Amino acid sequence: MLLHSKRGRTMLRYSVRSGFWKEKVLCGVFSSAQSVNTVKVRTNGNCSGVSAKKWMRPGGFDTGLKTFNSLTKQKEPLILAREGVATWYSCGPTVYDHAHLGHACSYVRFDILQRILSRLFGITVIHAMVITDIDDKIIKRSWEDNVSPSVIATVYEDGFKRDMLSLKVIPPAVYLRVTENVHHIVTFIEGIITNGHAYATKEGDVYFDIQSIGDRYGKFVGAMDSQGEPGSTNKRDSRDFALWKRSKPQEPYWESPWGRGRPGWHIECSTIASAVFGSQLDVHSGGIDLAFPHHENEVAQSEAYHQCGQWANYFLHSGHLHLKGSAEKMSKSLKNYVTIKDFLQSYSANEFRMFCLLTKYRSAIDYSDSSMLEARTSLGTISTFVQDARAYMKGQLPCSPVQEAPLWERLANTKSSVVKALADDFDTPRAISAVMSLVYHGNCQLQPVSKCEGGARSPAVFGAMVSYIREVLDIFGIDLLYSKDVDGVTTCGSLEGVVEQLTHFRSEVRAFALAHRDEPATGLYPERIPLLKACDILRNDLAPLGVLIKDRGAGSTWELTERKQRVQDPDQETSS
Ligand SMILES: [Zn+2]
Repeated sequence: MLLHSKRGRTMLRYSVRSGFWKEKVLCGVFSSAQSVNTVKVRTNGNCSGVSAKKWMRPGGFDTGLKTFNSLTKQKEPLILAREGVATWYSCGPTVYDHAHLGHACSYVRFDILQRILSRLFGITVIHAMVITDIDDKIIKRSWEDNVSPSVIATVYEDGFKRDMLSLKVIPPAVYLRVTENVHHIVTFIEGIITNGHAYATKEGDVYFDIQSIGDRYGKFVGAMDSQGEPGSTNKRDSRDFALWKRSKPQEPYWESPWGRGRPGWHIECSTIASAVFGSQLDVHSGGIDLAFPHHENEVAQSEAYHQCGQWANYFLHSGHLHLKGSAEKMSKSLKNYVTIKDFLQSYSANEFRMFCLLTKYRSAIDYSDSSMLEARTSLGTISTFVQDARAYMKGQLPCSPVQEAPLWERLANTKSSVVKALADDFDTPRAISAVMSLVYHGNCQLQPVSKCEGGARSPAVFGAMVSYIREVLDIFGIDLLYSKDVDGVTTCGSLEGVVEQLTHFRSEVRAFALAHRDEPATGLYPERIPLLKACDILRNDLAPLGVLIKDRGAGSTWELTERKQRVQDPDQETSS
């Protein structure tokens, strides 16, 4: 392996001198195994030298999907190097504090996109994520807390993974830590220097030489206006950024050809993405704030190292999360954040997903109690429909006869609308709106009647709608059935079984209490009225606990709702 051993580095230098370097780089290899693999995939046509800033449409397999590409600032056909497989790199967290909702939003949104690709379009997503476990902020925090930086990193990396689990974000195929890849990073920097795109200063820093890549720097907005990062006065250009920073006293360090130091911020992503995927990447994702300078610099480094015209074919950026009324994004430095843990005290992971689905992943998103309640209401409407449709199927909800044909047609149309919306730059709000419309029309047909007249029934079409809605929600990572477990609270025994038995018992009591004396005009038995009141109290008391009992004529149905359900629905039929 070229990069994985000391011997490998020797070979690399040898290769450079012998002119073999370029050929190896063209194949985008870090190992002979990857070299073999590249035979089977299409690589970008022009991978051998300087090209314009212009995006090159990748060769490969057209998925039929369109996605907005930050490199071109417009929707492009999503073409993958390998059929049915997407290589996907994302910048992970810097682990120095708890993750907040702004982070959650970005990770949940990309989780939804990856689920859509894999579960709806059958594309296997190979997702690699880096954990930044060495950084100025981690070092500062370790000084404040008087522990080593690695303790800080371990604590908050664990916290991050727990938060992601509680938000039902599918973990990447692999997490990679910066500190475990410093030797790769050193070799990568050596490669960039050898290719003439970086230089070391006499103080022991290494900078990327922006002028060496001409007008290819600035693929993302704002790049050209940049004044660059502060740093050594020995930088050739103010925009040059650090690949390697010499260590200051008391800081952790690694040995390198330029002395003791540690990697700059951007180089970790180029190196680690290349170590996993070689010289070509299908998709790179991150929050929009990372586009510049971070992704800009990643691109510059990677293309300088691989000597190719286009490293990552698609950059997907998610919009910021703002606290409503604030123009600023949620961030640690602005101290306007809500931690994921705190958030999950009031809302569920399903509700947060619905909140994310209701806007496009690229849009800025306003977080407030009212936007969360909107998400909760949408989810509640779907959930109630599913429960009603099931009650109807079981014969517990007598309804007037249903117009079946239009419902079958609407279901078919919904399916194709959802696929179309999601194939068009993952337009989740449009897909959710199609599902809500199906629910609306389903509800219109479920007109409860107080007495079963024994007319024709249409349980199958409602069964089809229930199955389809569950399927779509499952694609998005929402499971209505298991909503109780997502915040880590495990239930013992079967809640559903208990509620079923309880509701059955209550129905019996209620039917007994509602019985009339022999002559209807004389009304209820007065001594049974307290039973009726007890039934009402039980129903009202269970609602805030997430058990919604609805009295339908003489019978009752129940459903489990998202927790902290507000008190009874005023439209609900009362029994007293
Ligand atoms: Zn990155």
